[in-house]
Amino acid sequence: MEKILIFGHKNPDTDSIMSALIMEDLEKKMGSNVLACKLGNVNKETEYALKYFNVNEPITIDNLEEGQEVILVDHNEFAQSANGIEKAKILKVVDHHRICGFETSEPLFYIANPFGCTATILYDMYLINNFEISSTIAGLMLSAIISDTLLLKSPTTTPKDENAAKALAKIANVNLEKYGLAMLKAGTDLSSYTPEQLLTLDAKHIEIKNLKTIIAQVNTVDINDVMKIKSDIEKAMNNTINSEGLDLFILAITDIINNNSQIITLGNSSHIAEKAFNVKLEDNTAFLKGVVSRKKQILPVLIENA
Ligand code: MG
Ligand code: MG
Ligand code: MG
Repeated sequence: MEKILIFGHKNPDTDSIMSALIMEDLEKKMGSNVLACKLGNVNKETEYALKYFNVNEPITIDNLEEGQEVILVDHNEFAQSANGIEKAKILKVVDHHRICGFETSEPLFYIANPFGCTATILYDMYLINNFEISSTIAGLMLSAIISDTLLLKSPTTTPKDENAAKALAKIANVNLEKYGLAMLKAGTDLSSYTPEQLLTLDAKHIEIKNLKTIIAQVNTVDINDVMKIKSDIEKAMNNTINSEGLDLFILAITDIINNNSQIITLGNSSHIAEKAFNVKLEDNTAFLKGVVSRKKQILPVLIENA
């Protein structure tokens, strides 16, 4: 029998990679024939975590065959999923995002919780099923939670994430703060990327009302480091706007130490950002105090003001 493919979203972040691997472990424990995959290269933060816990990257897939059985983790929007997802057979979804543009022809398992991380939902599933969590799987879960919640400081963090992270740090035998900061910092090394690559590291294609939008995010320990190449970044953003016919392109440069973001906003609909964040864009940019979460602090206010 052909394997069921498990994958997270395009431009995968640590949660998308780890949740695919964790779900693979969970499904195998339930007797399913599954394979964890990814839709694109892993970033440096994920690379650090995989190396730390001595786990190989999942294989990369590109196109899905018609009727391929799949399990989605950390996403549900088809625009963020594998090419050919419309013709695949979605058996399960485990996710913590808004549900948007999602439709299937057959019944499925759909587990959605508004937790800070998909791995936190999976952690619950191990507990419910009474499955043992190995130190390696604990390390992967912990890394995903640290990544999505910025070490439990993002407003997306729930008590569920906090409790899971504390328990998992013990099982994985790491110091939560120390490991967490090292992992997040590994992801802020942007030196080897071109401006184009930097924009796709963590980019999400999102429909806001009927506006074609990309919201990209990069983590840094010093916003000025990234702003030094602002004009090159803007050039790359404008190229994408033209080639993809975007209405709005927002890059959030997020300071993971002080938990603020600087945004660079381009496109015909960039005035929406001014309204949404109650700021004046100067030279296409504005500082957003206390804003770190695309899901909770950026996307909803954009939708409200579009
Ligand atoms: Mg994600
Ligand atoms: Mg996630
Ligand atoms: Mg993220």
